[in-house]
Amino acid sequence: MKAKVFEIKKFAVHDGDGIRTTIFFKGCPLKCVWCHNPEGLSSKTQLAYYSHKCINCFECVKICPNNAHIINNGIHEYVAKNCINCGKCEEICLGNAIKIYGKDYTVDELLKIVLEDKVFYDNSGGGVTLSGGECLLYANFIKDLFIKLKNHGINTAVDTCGFIGKDQIDKIIDYTDVFLYDFKAYTSKTHKNCTGQSNDIIIKNLEYLDKKGKNIEIRIPYVPNYNDFEIEDMIKYLNGIKNITKIRILPYHNFSTAKYQSLNYENTMPSVVPTNEEIENIKNTLRKISIHKIVD
Ligand code: SF4
Ligand code: SF4
Repeated sequence: MKAKVFEIKKFAVHDGDGIRTTIFFKGCPLKCVWCHNPEGLSSKTQLAYYSHKCINCFECVKICPNNAHIINNGIHEYVAKNCINCGKCEEICLGNAIKIYGKDYTVDELLKIVLEDKVFYDNSGGGVTLSGGECLLYANFIKDLFIKLKNHGINTAVDTCGFIGKDQIDKIIDYTDVFLYDFKAYTSKTHKNCTGQSNDIIIKNLEYLDKKGKNIEIRIPYVPNYNDFEIEDMIKYLNGIKNITKIRILPYHNFSTAKYQSLNYENTMPSVVPTNEEIENIKNTLRKISIHKIVD
Protein backbone atom coordinates (compact mmCIF):
# COMPACT_ATOMS: atom_id res chain seq x y z
CA MET A 1 0.00 0.00 0.00
CA LYS A 2 1.33 3.45 -0.95
CA ALA A 3 0.21 7.05 -0.40
CA LYS A 4 1.07 10.18 -2.36
CA VAL A 5 2.86 12.85 -0.31
CA PHE A 6 3.84 16.35 -1.44
CA GLU A 7 5.85 17.53 1.56
CA ILE A 8 7.44 16.24 4.74
CA LYS A 9 8.10 19.09 7.16
CA LYS A 10 10.46 18.33 10.04
CA PHE A 11 10.63 20.42 13.25
CA ALA A 12 7.11 21.77 12.67
CA VAL A 13 5.84 23.81 15.63
CA HIS A 14 2.43 25.00 14.37
CA ASP A 15 0.74 21.65 13.72
CA GLY A 16 -0.03 20.49 17.25
CA ASP A 17 1.90 20.44 20.53
CA GLY A 18 5.69 20.27 20.73
CA ILE A 19 8.13 19.57 17.93
CA ARG A 20 6.50 17.49 15.20
CA THR A 21 7.01 16.03 11.77
CA THR A 22 4.11 17.01 9.51
CA ILE A 23 3.37 14.94 6.42
CA PHE A 24 1.25 16.49 3.67
CA PHE A 25 -0.84 14.11 1.52
CA LYS A 26 -2.06 14.83 -2.03
CA GLY A 27 -5.74 15.29 -2.87
CA CYS A 28 -8.54 17.33 -1.30
CA PRO A 29 -12.36 17.11 -1.57
CA LEU A 30 -12.73 20.89 -0.97
CA LYS A 31 -11.52 23.81 -3.04
CA CYS A 32 -11.10 26.76 -0.69
CA VAL A 33 -10.70 30.05 -2.53
CA TRP A 34 -7.86 31.00 -0.15
CA CYS A 35 -6.03 27.62 -0.31
CA HIS A 36 -2.35 28.20 0.45
CA ASN A 37 -1.38 24.64 -0.51
CA PRO A 38 -2.75 24.38 -4.07
CA GLU A 39 -0.16 21.67 -4.73
CA GLY A 40 -2.28 19.50 -2.41
CA LEU A 41 -5.55 19.87 -4.33
CA SER A 42 -4.99 17.20 -6.99
CA SER A 43 -4.36 13.59 -5.97
CA LYS A 44 -1.98 13.22 -8.92
CA THR A 45 1.75 13.89 -9.13
CA GLN A 46 2.38 17.32 -10.68
CA LEU A 47 5.37 19.24 -11.97
CA ALA A 48 5.39 22.87 -10.86
CA TYR A 49 7.49 25.24 -12.95
CA TYR A 50 8.55 28.49 -11.24
CA SER A 51 9.40 30.53 -14.35
CA HIS A 52 10.76 33.50 -12.36
CA LYS A 53 13.57 31.28 -11.04
CA CYS A 54 14.65 29.90 -14.42
CA ILE A 55 18.20 30.97 -15.41
CA ASN A 56 18.00 29.46 -18.95
CA CYS A 57 20.78 26.97 -18.36
CA PHE A 58 18.91 24.42 -20.55
CA GLU A 59 20.09 21.43 -18.49
CA CYS A 60 16.46 20.26 -18.41
CA VAL A 61 16.24 20.37 -22.21
CA LYS A 62 19.18 17.96 -22.42
CA ILE A 63 17.87 15.48 -19.84
CA CYS A 64 14.11 15.35 -20.51
CA PRO A 65 13.20 12.05 -22.25
CA ASN A 66 9.93 13.43 -23.64
CA ASN A 67 10.63 16.94 -25.00
CA ALA A 68 8.74 18.65 -22.19
CA HIS A 69 11.45 21.29 -21.99
CA ILE A 70 12.26 23.20 -25.19
CA ILE A 71 14.14 26.33 -26.24
CA ASN A 72 11.97 28.96 -27.88
CA ASN A 73 13.79 32.04 -29.26
CA GLY A 74 16.66 31.44 -26.84
CA ILE A 75 14.33 31.17 -23.82
CA HIS A 76 13.40 28.02 -21.91
CA GLU A 77 9.77 26.88 -22.24
CA TYR A 78 7.98 24.09 -20.37
CA VAL A 79 5.45 22.02 -22.36
CA ALA A 80 3.28 20.42 -19.67
CA LYS A 81 1.39 18.04 -21.96
CA ASN A 82 4.62 16.18 -22.77
CA CYS A 83 5.67 15.64 -19.14
CA ILE A 84 5.54 12.11 -17.67
CA ASN A 85 6.69 13.23 -14.19
CA CYS A 86 9.88 11.18 -14.24
CA GLY A 87 11.57 13.77 -12.00
CA LYS A 88 14.88 13.87 -13.90
CA CYS A 89 14.72 17.62 -14.55
CA GLU A 90 13.99 18.48 -10.90
CA GLU A 91 17.26 16.83 -9.88
CA ILE A 92 19.47 18.81 -12.30
CA CYS A 93 17.69 22.20 -12.47
CA LEU A 94 20.34 24.80 -11.61
CA GLY A 95 17.79 27.55 -10.89
CA ASN A 96 15.67 25.42 -8.53
CA ALA A 97 12.78 26.31 -10.85
CA ILE A 98 11.26 22.82 -11.02
CA LYS A 99 9.47 21.01 -8.23
CA ILE A 100 7.68 17.68 -8.44
CA TYR A 101 4.75 17.59 -6.02
CA GLY A 102 3.65 14.05 -5.17
CA LYS A 103 5.88 11.10 -4.40
CA ASP A 104 4.65 7.64 -3.41
CA TYR A 105 5.65 6.27 -0.01
CA THR A 106 4.98 3.00 1.79
CA VAL A 107 4.06 3.05 5.50
CA ASP A 108 7.52 1.73 6.42
CA GLU A 109 9.28 4.39 4.34
CA LEU A 110 7.43 7.17 6.18
CA LEU A 111 7.92 5.43 9.53
CA LYS A 112 11.68 5.36 8.98
CA ILE A 113 11.73 9.11 8.23
CA VAL A 114 9.65 10.15 11.25
CA LEU A 115 11.51 7.88 13.69
CA GLU A 116 14.72 9.82 12.94
CA ASP A 117 13.38 12.63 15.16
CA LYS A 118 11.81 10.61 17.97
CA VAL A 119 14.13 12.16 20.56
CA PHE A 120 12.76 15.62 19.70
CA TYR A 121 9.15 14.44 20.05
CA ASP A 122 9.95 12.84 23.40
CA ASN A 123 11.71 15.92 24.78
CA SER A 124 9.12 18.46 23.60
CA GLY A 125 5.80 16.62 23.98
CA GLY A 126 5.53 16.53 20.19
CA GLY A 127 4.86 13.81 17.65
CA VAL A 128 3.61 13.28 14.11
CA THR A 129 0.85 15.23 12.33
CA LEU A 130 -0.74 14.17 9.05
CA SER A 131 -2.10 16.96 6.88
CA GLY A 132 -2.73 17.79 3.24
CA GLY A 133 -4.73 18.18 1.09
CA GLU A 134 -6.99 15.87 3.06
CA CYS A 135 -4.99 13.10 4.71
CA LEU A 136 -8.07 11.05 5.63
CA LEU A 137 -8.54 10.20 1.94
CA TYR A 138 -5.81 7.66 2.84
CA ALA A 139 -7.49 6.31 6.00
CA ASN A 140 -6.38 2.66 5.54
CA PHE A 141 -2.77 3.77 5.05
CA ILE A 142 -2.96 6.11 8.06
CA LYS A 143 -4.39 3.39 10.27
CA ASP A 144 -1.33 1.18 9.52
CA LEU A 145 1.08 4.08 10.07
CA PHE A 146 -0.54 5.18 13.33
CA ILE A 147 -0.59 1.64 14.76
CA LYS A 148 3.16 1.48 14.16
CA LEU A 149 3.71 4.96 15.64
CA LYS A 150 1.72 3.99 18.72
CA ASN A 151 3.96 0.91 19.13
CA HIS A 152 6.84 3.41 19.36
CA GLY A 153 4.95 5.59 21.87
CA ILE A 154 4.58 8.54 19.47
CA ASN A 155 1.77 11.11 19.72
CA THR A 156 -0.43 11.19 16.60
CA ALA A 157 -2.51 13.99 15.11
CA VAL A 158 -4.50 14.53 11.92
CA ASP A 159 -5.26 17.91 10.43
CA THR A 160 -8.56 17.42 8.61
CA CYS A 161 -11.12 19.51 6.76
CA GLY A 162 -13.78 17.12 8.08
CA PHE A 163 -15.38 16.65 4.66
CA ILE A 164 -14.97 12.87 4.64
CA GLY A 165 -17.08 9.79 5.34
CA LYS A 166 -17.63 8.72 8.95
CA ASP A 167 -16.28 5.28 7.94
CA GLN A 168 -12.92 6.93 7.18
CA ILE A 169 -12.85 8.51 10.63
CA ASP A 170 -13.76 5.18 12.25
CA LYS A 171 -10.70 3.54 10.70
CA ILE A 172 -8.26 5.86 12.49
CA ILE A 173 -10.15 7.20 15.52
CA ASP A 174 -8.71 4.73 18.06
CA TYR A 175 -5.11 5.51 17.04
CA THR A 176 -5.40 9.31 16.79
CA ASP A 177 -4.55 11.43 19.83
CA VAL A 178 -5.55 14.84 18.47
CA PHE A 179 -7.86 16.05 15.73
CA LEU A 180 -6.81 19.43 14.31
CA TYR A 181 -10.19 20.28 12.83
CA ASP A 182 -10.71 23.03 10.25
CA PHE A 183 -13.88 25.08 10.72
CA LYS A 184 -14.30 27.55 7.87
CA ALA A 185 -17.84 28.94 8.03
CA TYR A 186 -20.99 28.82 10.13
CA THR A 187 -23.71 28.65 7.48
CA SER A 188 -23.80 26.10 4.72
CA LYS A 189 -24.24 28.92 2.18
CA THR A 190 -21.03 30.68 3.19
CA HIS A 191 -19.16 27.39 3.41
CA LYS A 192 -20.22 26.51 -0.12
CA ASN A 193 -19.19 29.93 -1.37
CA CYS A 194 -15.75 29.56 0.23
CA THR A 195 -15.00 25.87 -0.43
CA GLY A 196 -17.43 24.61 -3.09
CA GLN A 197 -19.20 22.31 -0.58
CA SER A 198 -21.78 22.59 2.20
CA ASN A 199 -20.55 22.06 5.80
CA ASP A 200 -23.32 19.61 6.84
CA ILE A 201 -20.98 16.57 6.84
CA ILE A 202 -18.25 18.58 8.58
CA ILE A 203 -20.58 19.55 11.42
CA LYS A 204 -21.88 15.97 11.78
CA ASN A 205 -18.33 14.60 11.95
CA LEU A 206 -17.29 17.24 14.48
CA GLU A 207 -20.22 16.34 16.74
CA TYR A 208 -19.36 12.63 16.29
CA LEU A 209 -15.75 13.21 17.41
CA ASP A 210 -17.04 15.17 20.40
CA LYS A 211 -19.41 12.35 21.35
CA LYS A 212 -16.47 9.94 21.18
CA GLY A 213 -14.55 12.17 23.62
CA LYS A 214 -11.68 12.93 21.23
CA ASN A 215 -9.25 15.80 21.82
CA ILE A 216 -10.21 18.44 19.22
CA GLU A 217 -8.24 21.57 18.31
CA ILE A 218 -10.28 23.89 16.07
CA ARG A 219 -8.57 25.92 13.37
CA ILE A 220 -10.48 28.87 11.92
CA PRO A 221 -9.03 30.72 8.94
CA TYR A 222 -9.89 34.42 9.15
CA VAL A 223 -10.53 35.71 5.63
CA PRO A 224 -11.91 39.26 5.19
CA ASN A 225 -15.10 39.41 3.09
CA TYR A 226 -15.35 35.60 2.91
CA ASN A 227 -15.96 34.28 6.45
CA ASP A 228 -15.11 37.15 8.83
CA PHE A 229 -18.80 38.11 9.24
CA GLU A 230 -19.61 34.62 10.64
CA ILE A 231 -16.73 34.20 13.10
CA GLU A 232 -18.76 35.12 16.19
CA ASP A 233 -21.57 32.71 15.22
CA MET A 234 -18.97 30.00 14.70
CA ILE A 235 -17.58 30.52 18.20
CA LYS A 236 -21.09 30.48 19.75
CA TYR A 237 -21.80 27.15 18.02
CA LEU A 238 -18.43 25.74 19.15
CA ASN A 239 -19.33 26.55 22.77
CA GLY A 240 -21.62 23.50 22.51
CA ILE A 241 -18.74 21.15 21.57
CA LYS A 242 -17.28 20.18 24.93
CA ASN A 243 -14.10 18.30 23.96
CA ILE A 244 -12.45 21.24 22.22
CA THR A 245 -9.13 21.95 23.95
CA LYS A 246 -8.27 25.12 22.03
CA ILE A 247 -9.34 27.30 19.12
CA ARG A 248 -6.71 28.77 16.83
CA ILE A 249 -7.49 31.76 14.58
CA LEU A 250 -5.37 31.61 11.42
CA PRO A 251 -5.01 34.99 9.67
CA TYR A 252 -5.31 34.63 5.90
CA HIS A 253 -2.15 35.42 3.91
CA ASN A 254 -1.58 35.44 0.17
CA PHE A 255 2.02 34.20 0.03
CA SER A 256 1.11 31.30 -2.28
CA THR A 257 0.46 33.23 -5.50
CA ALA A 258 3.63 31.83 -7.16
CA LYS A 259 2.44 28.27 -6.49
CA TYR A 260 -0.79 28.89 -8.45
CA GLN A 261 1.24 30.24 -11.38
CA SER A 262 3.73 27.37 -11.25
CA LEU A 263 0.89 24.82 -11.52
CA ASN A 264 -0.91 26.80 -14.22
CA TYR A 265 -3.95 27.21 -11.94
CA GLU A 266 -6.24 30.21 -11.88
CA ASN A 267 -5.27 32.24 -8.82
CA THR A 268 -8.38 32.32 -6.60
CA MET A 269 -6.70 33.87 -3.55
CA PRO A 270 -8.59 36.88 -2.15
CA SER A 271 -6.79 40.21 -2.45
CA VAL A 272 -7.64 41.56 1.03
CA VAL A 273 -5.47 40.31 3.89
CA PRO A 274 -6.27 41.13 7.52
CA THR A 275 -4.10 43.57 9.46
CA ASN A 276 -2.40 42.55 12.72
CA GLU A 277 -4.66 44.99 14.55
CA GLU A 278 -7.78 43.41 13.04
CA ILE A 279 -6.64 39.96 14.16
CA GLU A 280 -5.91 41.14 17.70
CA ASN A 281 -9.31 42.85 17.89
CA ILE A 282 -11.19 39.79 16.71
CA LYS A 283 -9.31 37.52 19.13
CA ASN A 284 -10.13 39.85 22.03
CA THR A 285 -13.81 39.86 21.01
CA LEU A 286 -13.88 36.07 20.72
CA ARG A 287 -12.21 35.58 24.10
CA LYS A 288 -15.19 37.33 25.68
CA ILE A 289 -17.76 34.95 24.15
CA SER A 290 -15.85 31.65 23.94
CA ILE A 291 -15.85 29.06 26.70
CA HIS A 292 -12.80 27.55 24.99
CA LYS A 293 -9.24 28.88 24.96
CA ILE A 294 -8.50 31.11 21.95
CA VAL A 295 -4.79 30.76 21.18
CA ASP A 296 -2.33 32.50 18.83
S1 SF4 B 1 9.62 15.32 -15.04
FE1 SF4 B 1 10.66 14.09 -16.64
S2 SF4 B 1 9.25 14.16 -18.40
FE2 SF4 B 1 8.62 15.81 -16.99
S3 SF4 B 1 9.68 17.59 -17.73
FE3 SF4 B 1 10.99 16.70 -16.14
S4 SF4 B 1 12.41 15.34 -17.24
FE4 SF4 B 1 10.72 15.83 -18.65
S1 SF4 C 1 17.13 23.41 -15.74
FE1 SF4 C 1 15.89 24.84 -14.54
S2 SF4 C 1 16.94 26.81 -14.68
FE2 SF4 C 1 17.76 25.50 -16.32
S3 SF4 C 1 16.50 26.01 -18.12
FE3 SF4 C 1 15.56 24.25 -17.11
S4 SF4 C 1 14.02 25.16 -15.73
FE4 SF4 C 1 15.42 26.79 -16.32
